[in-house]
Amino acid sequence: MHRRTFLQAASAPLGLAAVNRFVPPVTDPVSGSVSGPAVHTTPRASVVVIGAGAFGGWTALHLREMGHAVTLLDAYGPGNSRATSGDETRQIRCGYGDRLLYARSAQRAMVAWHEREREFGVSLLNPTGRLQLAPDWTPSLRATQATLTTLAVPFEAMTTDDLRRRYPQMNPEGMGVGLLEPGALVIRAKQAMLAVSQAFQRKGGTLRISRAQPGTTDGGRLVDVRLDDGSRLAADSFVFACGPWLPKLFPALLRSRIQVPGRDVLYFGLPSGDQRLAFPNFPNYSEERYYGFASIDGRGFKVCPTTGTNSFDPDVDERIISATEVRRARAYLAQRFPSLAGQPITESRVCQLENTADEHFIIDRHPEMANVMIAGGGSGHGFKHGPVIGNYIAKRALGETTDGDFDHMVRLAR
Ligand SMILES: Cc1cc2nc3c(=O)[nH]c(=O)nc-3n(C[C@H](O)[C@H](O)[C@H](O)COP(=O)(O)OP(=O)(O)OC[C@H]3O[C@@H](n4cnc5c(N)ncnc54)[C@H](O)[C@@H]3O)c2cc1C
Repeated sequence: MHRRTFLQAASAPLGLAAVNRFVPPVTDPVSGSVSGPAVHTTPRASVVVIGAGAFGGWTALHLREMGHAVTLLDAYGPGNSRATSGDETRQIRCGYGDRLLYARSAQRAMVAWHEREREFGVSLLNPTGRLQLAPDWTPSLRATQATLTTLAVPFEAMTTDDLRRRYPQMNPEGMGVGLLEPGALVIRAKQAMLAVSQAFQRKGGTLRISRAQPGTTDGGRLVDVRLDDGSRLAADSFVFACGPWLPKLFPALLRSRIQVPGRDVLYFGLPSGDQRLAFPNFPNYSEERYYGFASIDGRGFKVCPTTGTNSFDPDVDERIISATEVRRARAYLAQRFPSLAGQPITESRVCQLENTADEHFIIDRHPEMANVMIAGGGSGHGFKHGPVIGNYIAKRALGETTDGDFDHMVRLAR
């Protein structure tokens, strides 16, 4: 078969593929963990996924579980500390304002995270709950309430007095409303990404630590990617899921669409013997200027400002927090969580976002390379969707039919 004809056939919808034999899921008699979704044993298409973060790692795993020959490439490795997914913790909640499609995806992802935690046999989830604070019933808070109601997600609305009674470790001054989503979770993010890549390899996927650049093109398709050592890797389809690196890889297409600001993440020590702000005694919290989590694994109380540097280079910029953000966070804590006033920073991280203007993801075909998918633009909320969005991206990469409304929402040309 002529090479181009083969490539086109291979990336056609899977309905055309050969019949495959299934390996059923197996329960480990010792750990009780299960092997998860069965893997087809006859490879059908070869796919290279570039980037082993929340978007790429899960995509590679799903593609492998669908039976394809998948190579996952990452410049620094799964869960690395430069990656946006390489931070210690990320939350999952369904409260999403009026963005019903994301709320629905988060709801499905919650179920999937529980299933995968069991499959991987690694403790990944902390049932924290999430408390959204606001001075008043803003339109966004009302929209969240409506969305949670539509999806039958349990929540509880509280007044200042309720907050004072329920959480005496917090000073609710200035906050007229608290919306608690008790089902929200904190995910051990770095551990999760390591577990995803291990499952991928256990199921027959190939992981390589190397940077990849788009290589040769032929007739509107990408033939191969160039690796660090100068070698090339050819495949039928490619998924570039490079998070904050996407604008560097495709500057003409993405530099104006994805901004990469830096964000400090601070952990403050709890007073000796005082566990009131530790998991499970306090939920995740958010208000306009700050959000964070109770102390998990003794790490400290997490405080994240919603402001930071405008532009961050994920390869070369130093991960050192700013003295200004520390000063501001201390002033905030002294007012909202008085027991933490004067407590030291026990850990810190500097992370970066990959923001689109409307905070919708970008998941679409490259306009000039028909067999290339671009997946990213997590915009501060992508991690939680990993197990669901990975399946979605895998299907898109293979030309399968997906939810038209979601396709439209995450298209490049918007
Ligand atoms: C401070 C902060 C808090 C957040 N909180 C939450 C939260 O609570 N809940 C939530 O759902 N989301 C949250 N997010 C957002 C979420 O973390 C991101 O949306 C998500 O992790 C992005 O995943 P990604 O796979 O797109 O990118 P990344 O995780 O950055 O992965 C990209 C990978 O590609 C690799 N790579 C890059 N270029 C190349 C190349 N050329 N060749 C090979 N490999 C390459 C990198 O090494 C990296 O591993 C938060 C983000 C930040 C910054």
